[in-house]
Amino acid sequence: MKKIIIAIDGYSSTGKSTLASMLSNYLNYRHINTGSMYRAITLYALRNKWIIDLGTKSSVNRDAIIRAADLINLEFKFDHDNICKMYMNSEDVDDKLKSPLVSKYVSQISVYPLLRKKIVKKQQSIGRSKGVVMEGRDIGSVVFPNAELKLFITASIKVRAQRRYQELMSLGVKTKLSDVLHNLEMRDSSDSNRKDSPLYQVNDAILIDNTSLTIDEQFNTVIELLNSEKNLL
Ligand code: C5P
Repeated sequence: MKKIIIAIDGYSSTGKSTLASMLSNYLNYRHINTGSMYRAITLYALRNKWIIDLGTKSSVNRDAIIRAADLINLEFKFDHDNICKMYMNSEDVDDKLKSPLVSKYVSQISVYPLLRKKIVKKQQSIGRSKGVVMEGRDIGSVVFPNAELKLFITASIKVRAQRRYQELMSLGVKTKLSDVLHNLEMRDSSDSNRKDSPLYQVNDAILIDNTSLTIDEQFNTVIELLNSEKNLL
């Protein structure tokens, strides 16, 4: 069977990971969550005190963070259920990546063009052999502009905040719904308005608004798309 690249872009907390994971299991593809790469670098920067969080104020050592991108070994490993986990310098950091502090700074870090250049290169080498579902903000526009299928995912901000809040609660992360909502608004705005590789729906991407869709309905919509476009698989 022909292997393709499926690029999934969209706003924060729109369920891109859930969809990407279901599709990669169904197609026996690799699932690459590119947000985890930016999050891992943010975690590394926080641990090294290159980001100092003082509540409303902060200090960020941009140059140290950009330099570190060459030193940090970021790897995706897949468990027996084909769930992808992020390893940073051989440490499984997956469960640390959604902490409120990482979420607070990740969109600030991801604006750096030099950092993006290094990360995009890694993503392109991972996906070169195809058979990959890659999700993020610039996959269809920058990383794989020739991806055979491009999806752009959105949902109402209220529904997204509620979903992310419930996810964080189930992970044992203490937070408030209003803080989650604020973080999503802030990241959407920064991701969409940055100069380098902003988030937007490219012309050939198919829009899916999943505000009122169940996870299975969304998955079936994409499977129908794959089946109707006979040349895709
Ligand atoms: O997908 P996730 O919400 O984990 O991504 C976290 C952040 O990483 C995004 O808000 C965005 O700032 C950045 N990101 C990016 N480009 C990507 C993936 C994520 O800039 N391809």
